[in-house]
Amino acid sequence: AAKRDGRDTYAIFDPSMYRSVLEEAQQRTEMERALEEQQFRVLYQPVVDMASQRVVGAEALVRWQHPVRGLLGPYEFIAGAEASGLIVPLGRWVLREACAQLAQWQRENAGAADLKMNVNLSARQFQYAGLVEDVTAAIADAGIASAALTLEITESMLMQDIDNAIETLHALRRLGVHLAIDDFGTGYSSLSYLKQLPVDVIKIDKSFVDQVETDSGDVALVDAVVGLGQALNMRTVAEGVETDGQWMTLRRIGCDQAQGYLFGRPGEASQVSRMLQAATDTVVPS
Ligand code: C2E
Ligand code: MG
Ligand code: MG
Ligand code: MG
Repeated sequence: AAKRDGRDTYAIFDPSMYRSVLEEAQQRTEMERALEEQQFRVLYQPVVDMASQRVVGAEALVRWQHPVRGLLGPYEFIAGAEASGLIVPLGRWVLREACAQLAQWQRENAGAADLKMNVNLSARQFQYAGLVEDVTAAIADAGIASAALTLEITESMLMQDIDNAIETLHALRRLGVHLAIDDFGTGYSSLSYLKQLPVDVIKIDKSFVDQVETDSGDVALVDAVVGLGQALNMRTVAEGVETDGQWMTLRRIGCDQAQGYLFGRPGEASQVSRMLQAATDTVVPS
């Protein structure tokens, strides 16, 4: 819509505005078809427990196998799906797919009864009135325990409308699902809110992990977040762990779990199956 500046001005036609609306509509149509034609895929990244060095879960990460552009990551289409609203059916599909995959892992692996699945929510999905219903159905249809599912949200999603957000979090919590704050430390959530939030897991953003071996400031920050997690009874998970040194430092600090290329990139479900089957091995080299 054309903006008015308060005076009596005429709306000026802006070709770039027109194009973006048109492009948005085109992308929505394209993504609707992609969803129908099953061009989306879910990859899974293992989550590893620090103490036992075993796989304790996985995070579902969506991809678009585009017929022309090849395999696309979420940064190339999530924002568009969010703008057009297609994120709601797409997110529902990811959720259902991930719950079904978890049920399959649990069936096929004797030691995987406690395995967990993490699924990311977008802002629009989080605000969507049918979210609780969708989550309930996904869990029931897959036949998994609700406590085996963790939904990941970001600080900015919470802060947009904190009262409604807290209400939604409580509604999800009543289902028995767990909640994680993703990319913790990159948003603006205030510590006073954190205490009130019915959240189970804090995911420490990769930007604090990258230099944790060498930067004493990052060590202090991660240490503070881990302490906060312990005080508030929240599990801490380090994101983006790539080296043995980072792993060892995080372990010394007392972080509970970790994810990163060191243990596995987002990959086919079979990657996690293989790691589960190698139950007697630990996943960390050395
Ligand atoms: P996220 O939830 O914070 O996921 C972690 C991202 O870091 C993933 O990127 C993962 O591939 C990447 N990563 C993990 N370990 C490492 C590492 O050791 N090194 C490096 N360099 N990167 C690592 P990805 O898959 O591209 O996803 C990006 C973001 O897109 C996610 O960030 C999440 O916010 C969003 N996203 C992914 N899947 C979904 C989805 O199904 N729904 C929604 N709403 N958002 C999604
Ligand atoms: Mg995440
Ligand atoms: Mg993250
Ligand atoms: Mg991140």
